[in-house]
Amino acid sequence: MKKEKAKVLLIYTGGTVGMVQDEKTGVLKPFSLESIIDYIPELSRFGFRIDGYTFEPPIDSSNMKPEIWIQLADIIGKNYTKYDGFVVLHGSDTMAYTASALSFLLENLGKPVILTGSQLPVNVLRSDARENLVTSIEIAAAKENGKPKVPEVCIYFEYRLYRGNRTYKHNAENFEAFNSSNYPELATAGVHIKYNEQFIAKPSSKKIISHRSLDTNIAVVKLFPGINPLVMESIFNTKGLKAVVLETYGTGNAPTAKAFLQPIATAIKKGIIVLNVTQCRAGAVQQGRYETSTELRKIGVIGGNDMTTETALTKLMFLFGENYPLAAIKKLLQQSLRGELTAQG
Ligand code: ASP
Repeated sequence: MKKEKAKVLLIYTGGTVGMVQDEKTGVLKPFSLESIIDYIPELSRFGFRIDGYTFEPPIDSSNMKPEIWIQLADIIGKNYTKYDGFVVLHGSDTMAYTASALSFLLENLGKPVILTGSQLPVNVLRSDARENLVTSIEIAAAKENGKPKVPEVCIYFEYRLYRGNRTYKHNAENFEAFNSSNYPELATAGVHIKYNEQFIAKPSSKKIISHRSLDTNIAVVKLFPGINPLVMESIFNTKGLKAVVLETYGTGNAPTAKAFLQPIATAIKKGIIVLNVTQCRAGAVQQGRYETSTELRKIGVIGGNDMTTETALTKLMFLFGENYPLAAIKKLLQQSLRGELTAQG
């Protein structure tokens, strides 16, 4: 029997990968998906069917917004049965946010969704775009015994495949732009692509659901020594605010001064959720380990365990978007929905 060609949908949102320098100003601006593919003719050697979808206009990912995340999830949902996998070309600046949001929006995922991009445009001789795109396509199409090898929302960058909702951009200069300190790489690409199967999620057998709503009434507050309680107060009093991701020190520690804790306690009493994540890029929040986090726990701050800020934020947008009752949101925040936090044992 003739083997069917693998089918991959390549979705182009924008980013450096497809940018060219404006001749007059020297500023980098996005160009078309066709032109990107023209620069990588070897893609045809896979023998796959690669279809394209372009967001109009393609954007620098600093202009990314939740409406586009929903559109992306929708495109993947609508084309889900037609393709073996999906590759999303995206700027690296907010790629970790998009990957986290997509992981929540796409429930029961059973196929690969690989986000990639590059630090240099594809038309630059030393560009990292070629390798990133070629390997992402190979991973999106990869199967074993008829089953997709990586049925997850991932980021592929510079020879490494990561679980998307565990990543953060850590370098604006190196080709190795991403990191995932709290979860191992899902694969590494060398002579062969080596999949770390024990860390990869199993494909869901349930029907895919692409959710369509995110609530943006969420704030992120990063603590620093000398933070003005009046600033805290004004953030916590923002009209319509539903939740705050509080970026604390170390294992979830914060000042113990009443002036600092008071606005948080009042907000929680009013029904605002406060989720504690650490400013450290590795490790987890353990409220109650130090005196400086005991009070947070007492006033009802929820420990975010080892979630990244990107994930904590998009998870809250998702849970409020789905209109879960407050008690359910509090519970779900502490559970792993898409592998975004390490279950406590
Ligand atoms: N500013 C660009 C973007 O995020 C950077 C990149 O693509 O890496 O769209």
